[in-house]
Amino acid sequence: MSALPTKLETLAIHGGSPVRERLLPYGRQSLNDADIQAVVEVLKSDWLTTGPKIAEFEERFAEWVGARHAVSYSSGTAALHGAAFAAGLGPGDEAITTPMTFCATANCILYQGATPVFADVSPDTLNLDPKEVSKRVSARTKAIFAVDYAGHPAALDELGQLAKAQAPQGQSPLLIEDACHALGAEYRGKRVGGIADMTVFSFHPVKHLTTGEGGMVTTNDARLAETLRRFRNHGISSEARQRQEAGQWFYEMVLLGFNYRLTDIACALGLSQLEKLDANLARRRAITAQYAEAFRDFSAIVVPAVREDVNPAWHLYPIRLNLGTLSAGRGEIFRALRAENIGVNVHYIPVHQHPYYRERSKSKESYPVAEDAYERLISLPMFHSMTVQDVEDVIHALRKVVTHYEGKGARLHLLETRQSK
Ligand SMILES: *Cc1c(COP(=O)(O)O)cnc(C)c1O
Repeated sequence: MSALPTKLETLAIHGGSPVRERLLPYGRQSLNDADIQAVVEVLKSDWLTTGPKIAEFEERFAEWVGARHAVSYSSGTAALHGAAFAAGLGPGDEAITTPMTFCATANCILYQGATPVFADVSPDTLNLDPKEVSKRVSARTKAIFAVDYAGHPAALDELGQLAKAQAPQGQSPLLIEDACHALGAEYRGKRVGGIADMTVFSFHPVKHLTTGEGGMVTTNDARLAETLRRFRNHGISSEARQRQEAGQWFYEMVLLGFNYRLTDIACALGLSQLEKLDANLARRRAITAQYAEAFRDFSAIVVPAVREDVNPAWHLYPIRLNLGTLSAGRGEIFRALRAENIGVNVHYIPVHQHPYYRERSKSKESYPVAEDAYERLISLPMFHSMTVQDVEDVIHALRKVVTHYEGKGARLHLLETRQSK
């Protein structure tokens, strides 16, 4: 493939014909007959919830990611809340996190009455910068919530060491990894899930594996796992099926929990989806390689960086525009791509810039790396069931739009008009 389209095409936003007839979303689930059958079987069984599919899914999931325990939750957000509770977060405590994430990562700190403290990200990965974190760790820090942005693992070893270094001043903060983007990602040869003190996953339909809504916390710590199990079930110390099997009615509520249980219906879907995870990850990695190759010669497009010690899972494919080389801003390029029927998106509006956070923030701090990245980010479609044609359409549309707005494109356009006259 040549770096430039052979002739300049009129953009759809200027009345030309779009690259695609129908909108390609940025992410979506894929379900097959085996998934549907697995759900139907549960619907015909005795247990729609609190039944045997839950432990089965949790055990298989823990094994797949390489963690000792997995505790399912009704969503990734509920799972984050469980992790914040299990870490012991409460009023007066602080937890350090990244502004470059979905707001749920920071919200779960607020659910516990604790204070989120943002730290800026590294320019290459847009993951928490350990140097920035180290400036903010104090005796009040109870947890560090790292996010594996786009599916690229955070600097887990460095962040874990930072947390441990706090130990002399009391109990060391826990490292909680929000791996909602990163199921299947590898960090220094190991899958994420068994590395941080707790790792959180989401099973929303745009993620690698879906249960409709759903989430999971994995940990190697049996005490954390027990707290996580109680918290998702009203704080009750035993589960309904254990009591039924033991012929007992007695139970005790020992902490103030929630009903954050995942159903057997959802877990059956999760088990069936888990079978295809390896293949889906391979597909996402292949699409990524194609994107990176296709945009290599475009100085206006910065593709996501990959550090040497990781193998990302690619939930997203966020490019950054080199706005200095373009005659239009991110907004116009975004609209031009949408007009071509490419369902681009932006991940993320930095959390501290949302009105809820702005109005309550006492800190005047800014996070220049995250804020600069936000101005330039565009997420391209990325999901495992993208067809060869879908990938080609994205490449075609981005080249078409960027070429139009590039200095080089503008010159070429002039040349062509002159030649054709
Ligand atoms: C998806 C996501 C969540 C929330 O997960 P839900 O299952 O939608 O509640 C949290 N953090 C990040 C980084 C996510 O991408």
